[in-house]
Amino acid sequence: MRTFKELGRRRFLKQSIAGFFGMGMVPATQANFGQEQEKEKTLKVKRYRTLGRTGFEVSDIGGGFLNDAGLINAMLDSGVNYIDTAESYGTQRVIGSAIKGRDRKSIFITSKLEIKDDVSKEGFVKRAHKCLEELQTDYIDCMMMHMPEKREILKTEGFHQAMAQLKSEGRIRFVGISNHGSFWFKDPEETMDKVLGAAAEDGRFDVFLMAYNFLQMDMGNRILQLCKEKNIGTTLMKSTPIAKYYILKDRVDELEKQGKEVHPLYREGLVRFKDKLQRAEHFIKKYDLNNPEEIKEAAVRFVLDNPNVNTVCCSMKNYDDLERFVRLSGQGLSDWDREKLAAYKEGCGSLYCRHACGLCEPACPQGVPVNTIMRYFHYFVSQGREKYAMAKYTSIPGINANVCLDCEGYCEKACPYGVPIQAMLGLAHERLTMV
Ligand code: SF4
Ligand code: SF4
Repeated sequence: MRTFKELGRRRFLKQSIAGFFGMGMVPATQANFGQEQEKEKTLKVKRYRTLGRTGFEVSDIGGGFLNDAGLINAMLDSGVNYIDTAESYGTQRVIGSAIKGRDRKSIFITSKLEIKDDVSKEGFVKRAHKCLEELQTDYIDCMMMHMPEKREILKTEGFHQAMAQLKSEGRIRFVGISNHGSFWFKDPEETMDKVLGAAAEDGRFDVFLMAYNFLQMDMGNRILQLCKEKNIGTTLMKSTPIAKYYILKDRVDELEKQGKEVHPLYREGLVRFKDKLQRAEHFIKKYDLNNPEEIKEAAVRFVLDNPNVNTVCCSMKNYDDLERFVRLSGQGLSDWDREKLAAYKEGCGSLYCRHACGLCEPACPQGVPVNTIMRYFHYFVSQGREKYAMAKYTSIPGINANVCLDCEGYCEKACPYGVPIQAMLGLAHERLTMV
């Protein structure tokens, strides 16, 4: 009987070849055996980088949000050795079942704990033990403080005491921190670079996970430089900021087709969107940007090209994603990439609400956390994490985007990137509250 690992690998290779030739599953014949072997050779990680002071040689492509044991095994077989998870993701048990029986030392696993109500040492130790139990492992390589909103949270003593104890017991090896901006309605001063800058100065955080991409890189560049100086490991998320050009238009068409009422905000938004869409379409045509996957790949090469980046956490939903990302390992930015990314930025950049931004939020009289809501919408639309996104949206304290349907759109006027954000917020609310 085949093991999970073999099944995952076999499925991976079959899917890869099928995807490569643009057809369905390929029967395992002699003819395609050679192709499988050839494919296997190319679908291997080609570059490893030292993850800062941890000293671990980490694959430049890392696995973010993984929820399929077969896929995880295929990923590990391909040489990806970094697994990102969190207490709140609900994926730890799946990861635990996938890594069982593997050489544990060859994999770097990161989990994360949010700073919630109970900030006692005992509370954090208990939660870390639950993570260990779910992951079915003796130790976690890096336990991160998950998205602290403010610099003062970095000092949470109970967290650090718990981490010191767990380290001395050999249950965690390093401590890290993740961040993609704060809930700005709480404090507009607490930006991603300020929080992570303070974490670098603090000295107790060995690995960072942050939002960074070709459209949102100023803050990230400052942090990456700091990490280099302090020998902190750098891992990235939100690195493929490819907008869904037609998301609003598609929704209006859908509602009309179903004979349902279309909110006036959507129609107005569509008019405002139209200019931007026409502009985007012009660029898409001129620079042959029709295939969003090509732009995504160029976006990954953009971050891989930066020697200060150790690994990029790629959200892998299926074997096609795995193939696509692993194939990019070891690559750098080509002239073609530079040209396409510049064209994309020019033509389509205004359709992307920047991760870790929030510049428009002080303009909102209601205190709506625009950027956080758009991040949850990104989980929903781009990462296929519908339930998780909806649960996160429901947990937003105070006001959410339901008030945006009756507003003057102050945030949109304040956005320096020209994002047609008001209609996007309305759509996000609709999608994230679907029953
Ligand atoms: S709408 Fe604009 S200003 Fe507001 S968070 Fe998004 S990108 Fe930033
Ligand atoms: S649409 Fe109005 S209520 Fe909604 S975030 Fe923008 S300014 Fe605030």
